[in-house]
Amino acid sequence: MRYLVLSDIHANLEALEAALAAASTADAVLVLGDLVGYGADPNAVIDRVRALPHASVIRGNHDKVGAGIDSVRSFNHLARHAIEWTAAALTPDHRQWLAELSRGPQAVDDLVEICHGAPFDEDFYIFDELDARRALAEQTRPLCLFGHTHVPAAFRFDGDFESFGPPKGAKFDIVLHDDVRYLVNCGAVGQPRDGDARAAFGVLDTVKKRLTVRRVEYDVGAAQAKIIAAGLPEVLAQRLGVGR
Ligand code: ZN
Repeated sequence: MRYLVLSDIHANLEALEAALAAASTADAVLVLGDLVGYGADPNAVIDRVRALPHASVIRGNHDKVGAGIDSVRSFNHLARHAIEWTAAALTPDHRQWLAELSRGPQAVDDLVEICHGAPFDEDFYIFDELDARRALAEQTRPLCLFGHTHVPAAFRFDGDFESFGPPKGAKFDIVLHDDVRYLVNCGAVGQPRDGDARAAFGVLDTVKKRLTVRRVEYDVGAAQAKIIAAGLPEVLAQRLGVGR
């Protein structure tokens, strides 16, 4: 199986299309949550993901708040402004679909599980070694893929712990060895925050036991123009240009 790994699309249709085009030979798609929020195309992004023939999709915190099943209280001013716009823009059908998304973690097969934040808490941010160690201890598959931070990262544990990310450049290959646990964030499709404006995603080949973290250029200007035209905060357009 070849899986395309997408997280934190954030209503950025241009970035989503670029990632899908760059990995068009994938057999199935794993979507790690936050389909909406920040960007100007929540309904179109949901339509595109819904139309994928083989996809496992779990919810993110923005999906929950956008769908009205979680409180906006944990959000900062900017995220709140954007998710209130999103909630108003979603059609009832799209809102319902978001509300019914599964909670992570979710086991995909014997090799891999997916979560939005962490395997022990869908809303938790994994940033440091302590968090990563806890996740590696609690994940139920050799490879756990996560998102939420919008920053690519890679950790492994085989008795010894190692942080061997963050991936840099257009391609970062991780060969998955037996008897090693891996915890990897392939980055954000629609709102990268590691200083690289390109869309980030992963391609997992379960036969070759290889996970590749990739970057692809997309039409940032088009996504920015839609954010401005929608009346969303200008800073949300600006940050796409710098990947912060
Ligand atoms: Zn996110």
